[in-house]
Amino acid sequence: MIDLRSDTVTLPNDEMREAARDAQVGDDVYEEDPTVNALEAHAAEILDMEAALFVPSGTMGNQIAARTHTDRGQELLCEAESHVYKWELAGLAQHAEVQTRAIEGDDRGVITPEQVRAGYVETDLHRPGTGLLTLENTHNSKGGTALACEDIESAADVAHELGVPVHLDGARLFNAAAALDVSAADIVEPVDTVMFCLSKGLGAPVGSMIAGPSEFIDRARRVRKLFGGGMRQAGIIAAPGMVALENRHRLTEDHERAKRLAAGLDELPGLTVQSPETNIVLLETDVPATEFLEMCKGQGVLGVPFDDYVVRFCTHWNVGDADVKEAIAAVERAVPS
Ligand SMILES: *Cc1c(COP(=O)(O)O)cnc(C)c1O
Repeated sequence: MIDLRSDTVTLPNDEMREAARDAQVGDDVYEEDPTVNALEAHAAEILDMEAALFVPSGTMGNQIAARTHTDRGQELLCEAESHVYKWELAGLAQHAEVQTRAIEGDDRGVITPEQVRAGYVETDLHRPGTGLLTLENTHNSKGGTALACEDIESAADVAHELGVPVHLDGARLFNAAAALDVSAADIVEPVDTVMFCLSKGLGAPVGSMIAGPSEFIDRARRVRKLFGGGMRQAGIIAAPGMVALENRHRLTEDHERAKRLAAGLDELPGLTVQSPETNIVLLETDVPATEFLEMCKGQGVLGVPFDDYVVRFCTHWNVGDADVKEAIAAVERAVPS
């Protein structure tokens, strides 16, 4: 079976398993796990941020960030198709107790400075005030689009001018960096805080990081505890995360395979394929997505439905050149010509 459902299905390699076995550990709630401390320091250094915090998942990372940045009852500005708004069980309402105001981005998920300005609300007797702007890069729902540094910067600059902090959901931050051929630090330079996942394209079994100013990370550490995310000998999972971080240098391979996959699928009847910017391929099908995926599964390829007639395939480090070839052939067998 060629599993193209997500870049989260990757399995840890021997190097990661050995790193987990050999990790020096301590109680991380006491900040005494040397492996977690090293991972946090390394992540902060890569992003050129003051500090970082290891968290169990990207969802928890975003939720901690939102809670730490905002006061109860404020508004949070986000893109209408963003993960934090659409795919986190309305956690913003439950954990940060904020009201979300969604902005329709363009077809790549870009929101303009004017939209940020228009979405901002002041704090007065009747209005709650805007407490946070969140951005997403790469933008998952729009097909893994890599938003340019300038697009992040211009939205963030307006927010800052209005006194609103900015959090970047960078679950696939390093995919964006690879696609744009810039450093991740360049992308996050204009924002206050960022979350990225070790467990997606980087291939770690578990974990995400949030990074930002030391003062923010100190407060986020308390919120992580509040949310039940304080872990003990977490070096066991931080160690493979450290190994996974090095995989950021190979993500262009996934992007090239995604391009080849898209080109091959686009030749097939009944499919319209969006040209991928990173490792996510979106295809429009002329039969319902679930039906299409059932037929693909029968031929040995897995994907996920993204909309009634939209399917997502994802390349990752357990998908090689031969798999891409075979996936195209399998889909060709699956779709009636
Ligand atoms: C996957 C994802 C998350 C959540 O990460 P989990 O580790 O699955 O909780 C957040 N944001 C985006 C854009 C994602 O793709």
